[in-house]
Amino acid sequence: KTAINVSVKEEKAAFDSKAANSLVKQLRANFAAGKTRSYDWRMGQLRGILKILDNHESEIVAALRSDLSKPVHEAFINEIINLKKSCKLAIKKLKEWMTPEKVPISLALKGSAEIVPEPLGVVLIISTWNFPLLLSLDPVVGAVAAGNSVVLKPSELAPVTSSLLAKLVSQYLDRSCVRVVEGAVPETTALLEQKWDKIFYTGSGRIGRTVMAAAAKHLTPVVLELGGKCPVVVDPDADIKVTARRIAIGKWGCNNGQACIAPDYIITTKDFAPKLVDTFREVLQQIFGRSPLNSKDLSRIVNSNHFDRLTKLMDEDKVSGKIVHGGERDKTKLKIAPTIFLDVPHDSLIMNEEIFGPLLPIITVDKVEDSFDLINSSGRKPLAAYLFTSNEELKKQFVASVSSGGQLVNDTVLHVAVQELPFGGVGESGMGSYHGKFSFDAFSHKKPVLSRSTDDDLDFRYPPYTDAQWKL
Ligand code: NAD
Repeated sequence: KTAINVSVKEEKAAFDSKAANSLVKQLRANFAAGKTRSYDWRMGQLRGILKILDNHESEIVAALRSDLSKPVHEAFINEIINLKKSCKLAIKKLKEWMTPEKVPISLALKGSAEIVPEPLGVVLIISTWNFPLLLSLDPVVGAVAAGNSVVLKPSELAPVTSSLLAKLVSQYLDRSCVRVVEGAVPETTALLEQKWDKIFYTGSGRIGRTVMAAAAKHLTPVVLELGGKCPVVVDPDADIKVTARRIAIGKWGCNNGQACIAPDYIITTKDFAPKLVDTFREVLQQIFGRSPLNSKDLSRIVNSNHFDRLTKLMDEDKVSGKIVHGGERDKTKLKIAPTIFLDVPHDSLIMNEEIFGPLLPIITVDKVEDSFDLINSSGRKPLAAYLFTSNEELKKQFVASVSSGGQLVNDTVLHVAVQELPFGGVGESGMGSYHGKFSFDAFSHKKPVLSRSTDDDLDFRYPPYTDAQWKL
């Protein structure tokens, strides 16, 4: 047996460079022995992930509540159900995805050609805290479906979910090839020193740069799932009530704004903005009641550092007088109410860093068409860009002129749940993509294989050459 006999507790206690090196060596040996390649092994791991979800639902929900006060509804809708869908699709399509794709080639080649999906080897997945179940195990689905050995490093900022993942993965998946290493910067640094066949990282662009620099030392390819400021353009001709509801659910109904594709700021026209604010007030009161800080349906801020970061954005002199709704906060509960700002200056802090929380500034333009230049003028391509309109021409203009990881017209965040669409960033919001078949592809090498017969070995390829040969 090649399985590693180190308990999860021991890994937690001292996971340094030496331990990381020995772990990777053993996983590599198991990969090289072919353990992860078979259809049955891959299927076994995918079924294992499904069993984790089926058998431990209440523990998972409790962990998410403990780490983020995540409402039970959100735990199901945004994490458990999405992950189940992803796992079930991989189970259903695994055979098809693994089958080499035959491609037609010129008859003159007298042979056949195919594209063979090949596992990459031993891959590292570094995850984040805001959807700590989904963003940890969803990439694992792709990695094991593609036949790789995996090390998953969940975020230390969601510690209860992290240790639950360590326990359940070692219980339900093949420990000789799939491992969870818990920890923070020292443990991740030790892992990043090793040679991997792919690194899949979800988190901030700042650490994304560290990850990419470490990967470059070994020429390891990376997928970087980063963030950015996701704009929402609202055309005054859009249905105002539906627009406000769909922005509200994408912002405050997904981890209270702590989501990479949460609407970060709104751009609309000067005339329309006050009406939109009034509608938000109405909608927010319907959703979270009169005292949102006491609502059981509003996640808390992950920790006091992030709470302080957000209140600094709210309290900056340039914007504190611009609050038109909300503003309440409670540091003891780490809760901040949905807060809307109108006409914040472009050089304010809130307009110059990713908010990643319940604050929503609205900036105004004379004509809605001016929004697109404004988005592009930041020079940073967002992970998602949203437009609310009933004008087909405006929609075409939006798609043609705004570059972003993904786009959604007349809704927010929902594109993340469509398995048929690739999910990922562009420019500063990341590189590479996943979900559905794109996850399988992200962890596979598409190996072209050309086979020829040895009949009719034509002379014209070989010297001595004559002029007539290339004229053919
Ligand atoms: P983060 O970069 O601080 O942490 C992410 C991971 O990196 C954690 O596992 C952490 O342990 C590790 N890490 C932290 N510091 C490190 C260091 N110095 N060296 C090595 N590893 C280190 O990010 P975060 O604050 O947890 O997440 C917020 C960011 O993530 C936001 O920008 C958000 O938009 C983005 N995000 C993106 C997606 C996506 O799918 N594109 C999803 C969620 C969050």
